[in-house]
This record gives sequence, structure tokens and C-alpha cells, in this order.
Amino acid sequence: MAVERTLSIIKPDATRRNLTGKINAKFEDGGLRIVAQKRVQLSQAQAESFYGVHRERGFFNDLVSFMISGPVVLQVLEGENAIARNREIMGATNPANAAEGTIRKEFAESIEANSVHGSDAPETAAQEIAYFFAGSEIVG
Ligand code: ADP
Ligand code: MG
Repeated sequence: MAVERTLSIIKPDATRRNLTGKINAKFEDGGLRIVAQKRVQLSQAQAESFYGVHRERGFFNDLVSFMISGPVVLQVLEGENAIARNREIMGATNPANAAEGTIRKEFAESIEANSVHGSDAPETAAQEIAYFFAGSEIVG
């Protein structure tokens, strides 16, 4: 198995409810290390660009509004198969379909306000990490 890095975002619904620590415990208990972390307010342009792949979807404008509705916590998670492992720890996009014990099952408010983002493949993980972090901000 390969050690990977993946981009994680704790979304505004979760920061608003003060859930950063509980969510970080899920990552750490699940075998991932938080090797970079910063709390920021995304701009509309940043959120639109980050979710650009979804620009044609009906939920795009609402999603961007939601992602700038409060602070987010940007993170780089590291570990064995970190990209897939993080997706397991997060659970399904729609919390109604998320497995017991996952972040989204426990904390998500809706399919949109689903508490966390995680990269979905090695290429997107590399792009998403570089979009938010300088190499010097990541300390493994
Ligand atoms: P994931 O975050 O699980 O990778 P997607 O990449 O498909 O899911 O979607 C990105 C984000 O867009 C989701 O996490 C969620 O916040 C939002 N989203 C996805 N599908 C819907 C939908 N049908 N209605 C509203 N928001 C959605
Ligand atoms: Mg996705």
C-alpha cells in the first residue's frame, strides 16, 4: 500500500456547530494524520473555482453560497491509501446513504451541508492540495 495525501475540508455547517475536534478525531482514529490545517473564509471566486467541475449542475450556485456561508478548515490528510480511506471515514455524499460511524452519518445536515469534502482520486488530490497549500505549509 502507498502512503498518499488527500485534501479535506471541514465545511461551514460543521465549523458553525463547533465540530472540528470531533471530526479530526474521526480522521486520527481512522489512521490518518493531519499534516496541514488552516481555518479560512473562502471567497466566492475560490469556491466557484474549487467546485468548477460541478458548474453545470443544478446545485452549483447553492453549493457555492453554502461553502462561503462561514469559515472552513482546509486540511491535508496523510496515510496508507489516504484518498480512499478518507472517503470511507467521510461516508456517502448523501447522509441518508452513509454507513454507521461515518462523519456524514453522524454529523451531516443534508446532502449539501454534509460536513466534509475529500478528494476523489490521486490527480484531484494533488491539484486540490496545491490549490490551497504551499509545500512549506505541509509537514508530515
Ligand atoms: P462528494 O463531496 O461526496 O465527492 P460530489 O463531488 O458529487 O460529492 O459533490 C460535491 C458536493 O456538492 C457534495 O459534497 C455536496 O456538498 C454537494 N452536492 C452533491 N450533490 C448534491 C445535490 N444533489 N444537491 C445539493 N448538493 C449536492
Ligand atoms: Mg467530489
